[in-house]
Amino acid sequence: MQAKTAVVVGAQWGDEGKGKIVDVLSENFSVVARYAGGHNAGHTVIIGGQKFILQLIPCGILRPDCQAVIGNGIVLDPIAFLREVGKLRDLGVNVDKQVFVSNRAQVILPYHRMIELAAESAPGRQKIGTTSRGIGPAYEDKMARNGLRVVDMLNSNLLKTHIQNACHEKNAIAHALFGTEPLNPAQIYEEYVKAAEQLAPFVTDTAYLLNQAIRDGKSVMFEGAQGTMLDIDHGTYPFVTSSSATAGGAITGTGVGPTAIGTVIGVTKAYVTRVGEGPFPTELHGPEGEDLRARGHEFGAVTGRPRRCGWLDLPLLRYSNMVNGTEWLVVTKMDVLDSLAEIPVCVGYEIDGKRVDTMPADVRGLESIKPILTTLKGWQEPTEQIREYDKLPKAAQEYLRFLEKESGARIGMVSTGPDRDQTMALPDFAQALKSLEA
Ligand code: GDP
Repeated sequence: MQAKTAVVVGAQWGDEGKGKIVDVLSENFSVVARYAGGHNAGHTVIIGGQKFILQLIPCGILRPDCQAVIGNGIVLDPIAFLREVGKLRDLGVNVDKQVFVSNRAQVILPYHRMIELAAESAPGRQKIGTTSRGIGPAYEDKMARNGLRVVDMLNSNLLKTHIQNACHEKNAIAHALFGTEPLNPAQIYEEYVKAAEQLAPFVTDTAYLLNQAIRDGKSVMFEGAQGTMLDIDHGTYPFVTSSSATAGGAITGTGVGPTAIGTVIGVTKAYVTRVGEGPFPTELHGPEGEDLRARGHEFGAVTGRPRRCGWLDLPLLRYSNMVNGTEWLVVTKMDVLDSLAEIPVCVGYEIDGKRVDTMPADVRGLESIKPILTTLKGWQEPTEQIREYDKLPKAAQEYLRFLEKESGARIGMVSTGPDRDQTMALPDFAQALKSLEA
């Protein structure tokens, strides 16, 4: 690690336990910045038995000295943001002068939700399993140069005109296409002009803030949301999210240059899960999948949706490490595999009888993958109380070494439970993290 900065990215389809890992790692960082997505992230963090679900605000906020930044790559629902701020205040977390929102972030407005809800259930549309929070349509407006940014929301005249014009257009579209009842622009304005007042103290130019922090020698973590395979460019398109979830998103989503990134840390489960629709080569459909789901409590933090479960997919992890430039891996949920006698792992893909070494770009290719499995020995011992890597059962260490060798990135940390202290760092990684504190 050269610059005191790191991008932490989900290596699979999200829900890898990034929330917990970012929280653990944030001890070593002065600033944590989110760079993509919206309030669909749903990080679950457990501290001293108390459960926090953070949807928008970076987990760094749970450390008293850490600044939490919402970057320009985010789409911000001001109402959801203020609700989250309120909940954190109720829990005694200090948010004032610690949370910063980019003036260039895009704003989610009620018509984004209206369009998303209506479009997802419209006949003939391919269901991609969104969370219906308006995130996709807000990104559409951003790219169509039709969006409202936080800085514009703070100008009440601009806000009013924007809402009037947008409602005029979106109401007509939603009514014509989906028969949706129109939204009332005056009502929306009343609600959002008040929200803007409450939002204003948090708003700043976060690109300057972050670059200044880096120049001052502060350590900065860029926290990814969702996961690599949900990235708009590199994921299993169209079953993806609307933003750049991969490490590259940290650059465009915050306003720091690529030379400012010190390292990339990928977070992977010891197996794989996926929420919503879309291809999933190692998915288990029978009782083995149900078993993993039950052991891993694999239900969405925000939506409660059951997650699809499958064995570890090493070609996917290799691909993910490649597109992110991952240096270190954090392996979570090792404990979920504790009781298995044997653990199948996917080491290659076969498509139409041919071995394939790369990730297919098309959905049909992805769906026709036959995973080539190898079986590793299970350890059949509890690991949740273990705090040192060397004390992990031999078979667990072999499983991790195999993962490391096949994936092309070094294992830096292993997690064997949801709590902060159920985490062990390997010596080289611990050393690299220490160097951030200087
Ligand atoms: P994220 O979006 O990547 O942060 O993932 P989520 O927070 O949605 O899901 C991860 C879930 O796994 C949360 O309920 C965590 O508390 C839990 N978790 C994280 N690490 C571990 C682990 O090592 N073992 C177990 N059993 N649970 C974990």
